[in-house]
Amino acid sequence: MQKTDAVIVGAGPVGLFAVFELGMLGMKAHVVDALDEAGGQCTALYPEKPIYDIPGYPRIDAGELIARLEEQAAPFAPRYHLGQQVVAVEGDAETGFTVTTSKKEVIHCHVILIAAGGGAFGPNRPPLDGLERYEGKSVFYLVKRREDFRGKKIVIGGGGDSAVDWANSLAEVAAHIAVVHRRDKFRAAPESVSQLRALADRGKVDLVVPFQLAGLEGDGGQLTGVRVKDLDGAERLLEADCLLPFYGLASSLGPIADWALQIEKNLVAVDPATCETARPGIYAIGDIATYPGKLKLILQGFADAAAAAHSAHGHVFPGEALHFEYSTTKGVKTG
Ligand code: FAD
Repeated sequence: MQKTDAVIVGAGPVGLFAVFELGMLGMKAHVVDALDEAGGQCTALYPEKPIYDIPGYPRIDAGELIARLEEQAAPFAPRYHLGQQVVAVEGDAETGFTVTTSKKEVIHCHVILIAAGGGAFGPNRPPLDGLERYEGKSVFYLVKRREDFRGKKIVIGGGGDSAVDWANSLAEVAAHIAVVHRRDKFRAAPESVSQLRALADRGKVDLVVPFQLAGLEGDGGQLTGVRVKDLDGAERLLEADCLLPFYGLASSLGPIADWALQIEKNLVAVDPATCETARPGIYAIGDIATYPGKLKLILQGFADAAAAAHSAHGHVFPGEALHFEYSTTKGVKTG
């Protein structure tokens, strides 16, 4: 069993800033996120879009903001548990809480800060038998490094921006690419679609349309082929070393709905002064928290994190007075 002061559920911008706010008040944190990378919506949905309403930054790309927040949190040595959901929470503010993740990690803590945004993100998985045996080995929902796909036979599923952009990009390094889409029309930026069609004309990419994924062939997690079928049910087998299904991300409140909190329209109701939920010692901050006048903005989530950290101090260090100090006065002390 791992022990810490606070478990933060969600490594979006607000969860990351909460590490800093807790750290400034002497509290250590573990951060759990369902995604493989920190950054929440900023990383998963719009890393290259500029944000214009972060105080002090007239313009900052979402991905850059996340890098800065990670840097700001780093002195407090947060422990990240990525690629796993918090599935269960037991205990109370008196005895402490036990948090269990989907990878069976168990963490004991004094307080929990739920910074879960719209809920846990996960890829929309195609309904293929035995898919989980290949996930992470030859089926991937994200491309982290293009070089990992050099010389590979790749099947890409989907017709949106991710499918089209990655087909265009990976065509430079892959041995072969097939794009499987149920229609001949792609839902991506027109210039990206033109580029894809030009690659298809030159034989660099095989456009397998209108087809759908139908099955996987392989052994021990390694794909050898992907079966596809057309609208009449006629099947084809595509040779493949890997499959990249790009069918978007879905989010759901998931297990949080079962934690005996007050849920209002899929959000967690909190005391606006502290962001504490109906369950003492459990806080909700950022997009997932609701109170009168709440704005779903990153800057309001940052303020939520500060309020929650100040209140959490009372649970983590009962009986110890908290003297308010500016960061300019105390600096960043990690001891
Ligand atoms: P999120 O960013 O949603 O992160 C929550 C994280 O929690 C996710 O990574 C999720 O996987 C994880 N999680 C959830 N449940 C669990 C669980 N049970 N276990 C483990 N992990 C879990 N805001 C602005 O202020 N300015 C803007 O200009 C702006 N532009 C935007 C543009 C777009 C296209 C979009 C989609 C949003 C924009 N927003 C903007 C909104 C902003 O991104 C959100 O307000 C912000 O991301 C909320 O941060 P968060 O940390 O609360 O939640």
